[in-house]
Amino acid sequence: MQTEKPLEKQTKSEIENPKSEIRMSQIISFVNNPYQENTYILYDETGECALIDPGMYTASEQNVVVNFIRDNKLTPTMLLNTHCHIDHVLGNKFVFEQYGLKPQFHAGELNILAAIPAYAPQMGIRYMTSPLPDHYLPETGTVSFGNTELQLVFAPGHSPAHLCYFDEATNLLVGGDVLFRGSVGRSDLPGGEYDLLLRNIREKLFTLPQDCVVYPGHGPETTIGYEKKTNPFFNY
Ligand SMILES: [Zn+2]
Ligand SMILES: [Zn+2]
Repeated sequence: MQTEKPLEKQTKSEIENPKSEIRMSQIISFVNNPYQENTYILYDETGECALIDPGMYTASEQNVVVNFIRDNKLTPTMLLNTHCHIDHVLGNKFVFEQYGLKPQFHAGELNILAAIPAYAPQMGIRYMTSPLPDHYLPETGTVSFGNTELQLVFAPGHSPAHLCYFDEATNLLVGGDVLFRGSVGRSDLPGGEYDLLLRNIREKLFTLPQDCVVYPGHGPETTIGYEKKTNPFFNY
């Protein structure tokens, strides 16, 4: 299943006229695995792309992603995880085998990743062990591919070292399991902390532009401003 998400800032003529000076990334989501996790591909005019939280589990889920990359002549140059819960890393091994990319995430997620082989069988999930990063990401700074730069937003609370990725030029946030449309991430899993989660949303997400589009790890996208106004965890 896939849904194309053209950028809200782009006008119709810009989309139809590739010669216009667009310096923006595009994002597409794929809903994968039994947890209905959102896998994202972020790509720009250079043809380079980042895979974020690859959750492909079945062969057909893998094929949909591979076909999209091939059909759009994209070159995957970066594999990012927001955090290391099983639903967000199920496709890491496949991406490594297919494109030679090792994941990048914050080292504080390593215990979460290491715990997966023990609990995956209990959940009836076949887990292909993720490769480990060559480089771990810091709490602040940037990562980049093509012409796209992503700012790291460190927002633990759902997991111990959760990162969100903010693309300022396109005004979008790949948010993982921190903030959902009308909800927030669970904080009852190991490494979770409710007060910390809400504080990070208030201080690090709600301070982003109000029209910034949030692409979460589950469910539909939303905006910072909409959640600030309507999210029941902050409006009561
Ligand atoms: Zn999670
Ligand atoms: Zn998740």
